[in-house]
Amino acid sequence: MKCSFCSAEIPPGTGKMFVKRDGSVLFFCSSKCEKNMLKLGRKSRKVKWVSKQKAKAKTEAGAEAGRGSGSGKEGESEQ
Ligand SMILES: [Zn+2]
Repeated sequence: MKCSFCSAEIPPGTGKMFVKRDGSVLFFCSSKCEKNMLKLGRKSRKVKWVSKQKAKAKTEAGAEAGRGSGSGKEGESEQ
């Protein structure tokens, strides 16, 4: 499960699941993320510490999952 705000991996048994009135589900790793999104209405792209955390999470995930996600080029069209 990943945090809806900073997209850091949330360990099982921690974090918070937030269900909005419209039915959309948000996961938060910490109250920090919850407040930033709900109370302060920030966009994760605009928050500095999120991009830092994302980069960290990415490198950790990359080291853990050895297999690459197969998203190659789709049929090159020549003209
Ligand atoms: Zn978070």
